[in-house]
Amino acid sequence: MKSLNSKLLENKNNKMSQIQEEIKRINNGLPQGVRLVAISKFHPAEAIEEAYEAGQRIFGESHVQELQQKVELLPKDIEWHFIGHLQTNKVKYIAPYIKLIHSVDSIKLLQEIDKQAKKVGRIIPILIQLHIAEEETKFGFTIEECRNLLTTQDWSEYPNVQISGLMCMATNTDNMEQVRREFRTVHEFFVEMKASCTNLTSFTELSMGMSHDYPIALEEGSTLIRVGSKIFGERDYSKG
Ligand SMILES: *Cc1c(COP(=O)(O)O)cnc(C)c1O
Repeated sequence: MKSLNSKLLENKNNKMSQIQEEIKRINNGLPQGVRLVAISKFHPAEAIEEAYEAGQRIFGESHVQELQQKVELLPKDIEWHFIGHLQTNKVKYIAPYIKLIHSVDSIKLLQEIDKQAKKVGRIIPILIQLHIAEEETKFGFTIEECRNLLTTQDWSEYPNVQISGLMCMATNTDNMEQVRREFRTVHEFFVEMKASCTNLTSFTELSMGMSHDYPIALEEGSTLIRVGSKIFGERDYSKG
């Protein structure tokens, strides 16, 4: 009979290898030039380590304090992305290291990122978050606002941010045709902006697709998928 300890260890290894298998499976299925952002919010540092051991280097978090704690604990060559609503008074904490902020949803936030990036001598890559989903609670610019922003803004006013593309979330629905339509609309807009903002040479990333809809997002031209629960399991919010 196995000891309790070896059973626990076995369970742990089984669970962990699921994370690794999922990381490998998703990465193997990505078209060239598309990257996986493993969304690790509400999951412990150990789960991230498992994914790291499977070769994953890009992780996304949505809460500044949780991110700070994980950055302390985990390997230094991880690329941390920020994906949640970011309050301006918290930008300073992540400015020294954040690799990409997906969720810029106001000019005020853009200005603050520029200011804090300058202080630490960096140019921080960011994505403009579009509000495309039907839900009222989601943050972001409408397509009209974003077109206006991208085509009329004098980007030289923000030398310490690099506008790297767009991010969106589709409506949370089982209607996959609707999800596809939304992704397609955003991709068409992305192509339009790439063509018209020729001075924005960094405008190359389209962040769309989560656990339940990333295969559709890939078909519709995503370059960054943000997958959490499919890799790490359901989130335990009680520990957040
Ligand atoms: C939590 C989150 C994800 C990941 O969602 P899953 O359904 O767990 O894959 C992706 N994008 C954003 C903005 C999120 O907040």
